[in-house]
Amino acid sequence: MTRRPRPRLRPLALAAAGLLPFLGACAEPAPYDLVIAGGTVVDGTGAPGRAADVGVRGDRIVDVGDLSGADAVRTVDATGLVVAPGFVDLHTHLDPLLRLPSAESHVRQGVTTALGAPDGGGPLPLAPYLAEAESLGVGMNVAFLVGHNSVRRAVMELENRAPTDAELDEMQRLVGEAMGQGAFGISTGLKYLPGAFSELDEVVALSRVAADSGGFYTSHLREEGIGRTPGLSLLDGVSEALEIGRLAGIPVVLTHHKIVGQPLWGQAATTLAMVDSARAAGTDAMIDQYPYTATYTGISILVPAWAQAGGDEAFLRRLDDPVLADSILADIEWAIVNDRGGNDLSRVQFARVEWDPSLEGGTLLDWARREGLEPTPATGARLVVEAMRRGGASAIYHALDEGDVEAILAHPFTAVASDGRLTQPGEGHPHPRWYGTFPRVLSRYVRERGVLGLEEAVRKMTSLPADRMGLPERGRIAPGAFADLVVFDPDTVEDRATFQDPHQYPAGIPWVVVNGVVTVDDGAFVDVRPGRVLRRGEG
Ligand SMILES: [Zn+2]
Repeated sequence: MTRRPRPRLRPLALAAAGLLPFLGACAEPAPYDLVIAGGTVVDGTGAPGRAADVGVRGDRIVDVGDLSGADAVRTVDATGLVVAPGFVDLHTHLDPLLRLPSAESHVRQGVTTALGAPDGGGPLPLAPYLAEAESLGVGMNVAFLVGHNSVRRAVMELENRAPTDAELDEMQRLVGEAMGQGAFGISTGLKYLPGAFSELDEVVALSRVAADSGGFYTSHLREEGIGRTPGLSLLDGVSEALEIGRLAGIPVVLTHHKIVGQPLWGQAATTLAMVDSARAAGTDAMIDQYPYTATYTGISILVPAWAQAGGDEAFLRRLDDPVLADSILADIEWAIVNDRGGNDLSRVQFARVEWDPSLEGGTLLDWARREGLEPTPATGARLVVEAMRRGGASAIYHALDEGDVEAILAHPFTAVASDGRLTQPGEGHPHPRWYGTFPRVLSRYVRERGVLGLEEAVRKMTSLPADRMGLPERGRIAPGAFADLVVFDPDTVEDRATFQDPHQYPAGIPWVVVNGVVTVDDGAFVDVRPGRVLRRGEG
């Protein structure tokens, strides 16, 4: 454990306390608690990197410039390294926070602020959850959205219908309550239950409540692939999200934006043009993205939403009806061919399988072979149903195109976000983005492929997402800003987590500072939990 240096009283505070006259000439500026010296400061705004020292006192950056000779409690030598604002993650599955409050898998990537409750999920009611996180202490700053699916489930369970007026009122009340307790906006997961049962007007009505409190809207789109339902494809999903922004008057994030399934590969050009024209027409739309060609979610994503209405028992009952069962299998087979299945059973890789951990890391193809089955999409569909019967599983779907990933990343209004879940070595078989998102952008897309310049990549990880959250004092290096900092080696920083071996911390990130406290120290994680639980409007 490293002890945090005690903040010193500043002359201003002393004057306010009426003490200054007694101190007289002694009231010279106190030394810095921390100076990060000799590095290249990339300040998060996109401005060119420059040689400068960063002086920290208490939880704030107080000076940026030549601080050589200045007195400091601690000096970190950053010669040859980049000093950047700590990374801000707009899409984090913070659910295990109360069990893993240190958030090491995120902090070691350089993340100092993470936004939880994406995809329509998240804690409800919010206030007691935030209080509990606060009492445990957290390894990075955490913030939360209010999730539409959590709200709808609380009021309507898994009903496949529109809400009554009274139900809509109650959902609006819950959204307003969460916003009042510090939520940063509303998230939807319209591909998931029960959001899939909602129509546009319901989402607009709830988003207006979030907009009234200054919040924003972030959406797992209703469809991210070609879609089997007429009029419901990725492009319809994008237009719906932009339309919600326009109708509700709320800033929008197309979160973990991607083009799923071979039939749509190359369509990033279209979705990005849609975002550009919505912006030109006055909707404050942006994107976030993880830098991988595979997605991760429950195996139920391959199962049509109608079949899951009412919950697990209702799903099992439908499987007992031969006509419905055929229809369910046909829909799953279609998704394996055209959507996340990538038209190849080897593209669906099991992640967490509680009922048979020996499947973790293996693919649908491996499972078919183990059972001695012909590896066809029809077989895949039967195995997916079998997995659902046994309680479900999570999986990695290798169904994205590198060209689309790079086009989306290069867009000026795309932020980098992990869509990662807090984890620790030994827990299942996660998507490598849980450990590697931010360093991977710096190694693969800046250093190796040159898709982004370093300053632009850092902007996408810092001021762009911080500004969307309404946190102008985070996500940039400037006097007065919070001292959330990451120091990395631009020549060696890299993700080491892979699809086969995901439990690997990244390399080349020797220092991370959260609110002025060093929490990765010369490459070693120090469990001091210097993060804060952030509430919208509290600064
Ligand atoms: Zn999602």
